[in-house]
Amino acid sequence: MSFHSMWAELLPVGRGSASGGYRRFAWTGADAECRAWFQAQAESRGLRYEVDRNGNQWAWLGDPADGDAVVTGSHLDSVPDGGAFDGPLGVVSAFAALDELRARDTRLRKPFGIVNFGDEEGARFGLACVGSRLTAGQLTREQAHRLTDGDGITLPRAMEAAGYDPDAIGPDPHRLARIGAFVELHVEQGRALDLSGDRVGIASAIWPHGRWRFDFRGEANHAGTTRLADRRDPMLSYAETVLAARREARLAGAVATFGKITVEPNGVNAIPSLVRGWLDSRAEDQDGLDRVVGGIEKAARECAEAHGVDLDVVRESFTPVVEFDHALRDELARILGKDPDRDSGLKVPVLGTGAGHDAGILSGSIPTAMLFVRNPTGVSHSPAEFAAEDDCVAGVLALADVVEGLACT
Ligand SMILES: [Zn+2]
Repeated sequence: MSFHSMWAELLPVGRGSASGGYRRFAWTGADAECRAWFQAQAESRGLRYEVDRNGNQWAWLGDPADGDAVVTGSHLDSVPDGGAFDGPLGVVSAFAALDELRARDTRLRKPFGIVNFGDEEGARFGLACVGSRLTAGQLTREQAHRLTDGDGITLPRAMEAAGYDPDAIGPDPHRLARIGAFVELHVEQGRALDLSGDRVGIASAIWPHGRWRFDFRGEANHAGTTRLADRRDPMLSYAETVLAARREARLAGAVATFGKITVEPNGVNAIPSLVRGWLDSRAEDQDGLDRVVGGIEKAARECAEAHGVDLDVVRESFTPVVEFDHALRDELARILGKDPDRDSGLKVPVLGTGAGHDAGILSGSIPTAMLFVRNPTGVSHSPAEFAAEDDCVAGVLALADVVEGLACT
């Protein structure tokens, strides 16, 4: 089955008719349909199909017990109203790459696996990469059992309803120990490849990432009768902080976003008493991130003081930088070729990303790498996410080259 027909088969699953976006949430009907599709693809190719203790799906050519396996794949679930490519492109490309290798008559010397990690987006239970986190031992069974969706359904009940055993979940070090390299192909979630004019790129690292809550507290008062000079308006400090975030991020080549805000009392004719804004910031390295967030906080404190407003800043979450395995990354670059006319000397660019992935989770346990496919809109987690079919096919060929290069030596 060609890339095109596999893609067409998966395309309608879980797509909303109004938005055109996808709702393939973990352990729902749409997820089950995606999983049935994966199993059918595995079996139609004569691959050994299995589901691990955490509900991740695997398809094997050769016996993984032989060790040093080469594995590729991604996830099939989506964010609310997500695009078609984030996740599925990596899984469909994995099957298509195997077809390409078979068409080339390539004999793989190492076991080869294709994986669909469950619940990567965390759209239902609020935690991303649950399948790979459990497998890598970065999430305990007890923690996972406490995850609850918006309707009050716990993860164990949801897994059970989908026909899986929630008591079996937990770390899977033996499974990971058999894998010599995991390569995840993913649609790019930015425009770096579009700007450089490349179809495919190699990931260098996942940027460090944090979320901070800024509480600006002033004094609620009448919007009509309070003189400007008498106001302690936290909205002003907040607004200046948003501008500072943009400025600091631009200076550091990083990103900083205030995308969520609550206001009290939230009245159209009242000066607010509280403005609470959440900052999401990511940068290439820890120093850069510290500089950006430090700069924003300093500016926020200055604005708050100028307006007689109190400020509390709380870091709510933090994920350090993930550096992909250097040797594997260099091996991918070698396999995909050299270009002496480019500054880097490489045929494909090596780029960082601000988004998290299963490959990032697994990089703590096994050598991992990522390939990105050009996304001309740069948009992701939205129906506007896109990759041209030519670029997808270029991604498949690059992935086939990589698997061949890694599994034939
Ligand atoms: Zn993804």
